[in-house]
Amino acid sequence: MIAQPYDLLRQKDEIWGLFTCKSDYSRDKQVEHRSLYKYGGHADISVAAVSHFLMEHGLRWEYPEGRSFGVCLTHDIDDIYPPGQHMLLSAACSAARFDVASAGRQIAWRLTGKEHSPYRNFRQIIRLEKEYGGVSSFYFLGRGDDFRRYRYDIEELEGDLGGIVDEGCEVGLHGAYNTYGNLEAMRDEKRRVERALNRTICGYRNHYLSFKVPDTWQLLAEAGFGYDSTLGYNDRPGFRNGMCHPFRPFSLRTGRPVDIVEIPLVIMDESLFWKDRTFDEAWHVARRLVDQTAACGGVITLLWHNNAFASAFRESRKRVYRKLLQYCSERNAWMTSGESIWKWGMKNGYFDY
Ligand SMILES: [Zn+2]
Repeated sequence: MIAQPYDLLRQKDEIWGLFTCKSDYSRDKQVEHRSLYKYGGHADISVAAVSHFLMEHGLRWEYPEGRSFGVCLTHDIDDIYPPGQHMLLSAACSAARFDVASAGRQIAWRLTGKEHSPYRNFRQIIRLEKEYGGVSSFYFLGRGDDFRRYRYDIEELEGDLGGIVDEGCEVGLHGAYNTYGNLEAMRDEKRRVERALNRTICGYRNHYLSFKVPDTWQLLAEAGFGYDSTLGYNDRPGFRNGMCHPFRPFSLRTGRPVDIVEIPLVIMDESLFWKDRTFDEAWHVARRLVDQTAACGGVITLLWHNNAFASAFRESRKRVYRKLLQYCSERNAWMTSGESIWKWGMKNGYFDY
């Protein structure tokens, strides 16, 4: 790693502004999850410009077992029971294909018990990833109340959480919609997940990707998190601050680094399929971002919701995910959880600046 990347980045205003998300500071209202299209533009986020710049000056990450780049596999668990609208869409989609068994599964759990809910599919997701040698992170909501609908009680999921970590995967916190700006809520939700899991957690992502630069980083550090993986857009895949490497953020407010690691989010299923992209279009966008990350020897973070693996009307999301796993494993990627990437970077001194 370069000894002092901040000094290097500061040499170029444009690069420094992109890296620090400078344009976010000038907005008084938080614009949490939409891209900056309508806010006066932003650099082309399909290019990891800051990582490229650092590489020209010697940045290099190495990975275990000679792997050539990293893929951070993650899942936000927004629901564990399909909301009514999802059930209807899935059932209609299955019926249109005359797939009676699948249509039945969407409703049967109401009779057979909550544990059979099609969205309680963590084991199925883990099995799929293991076919390609990967493990992943699952971020759970610490509180069930939400402005849209009641989600779930984390206390109900003790067995599921234990099963996830037993498989070598990570359980982290999916902070509630407004938690990005509330230290007490962060601490409370963290405690709830830890109590259900019976161990401490280090990873965080905010619901809806709500985020306030640099305050959220600061609060997460105070709440005792090791890393965040929220920095990305809801409506556009890409490298939000030009980085395809995890990094230690810098606060323009205090003029100091923040004691946390950011593993930026690059592709979310929602943003990839934004405006009803077809399977082929989505795959084309995703592959370009993977190729670019691989060329930089960086880390690409994927976020696929658990509902994408159990909704007939979102079948192409699942297909693209499988194709990505296959493509990345063929390209010798290290496909792992946020926790493993964070620990690897810490151990190798990649954030020592
Ligand atoms: Zn969410």
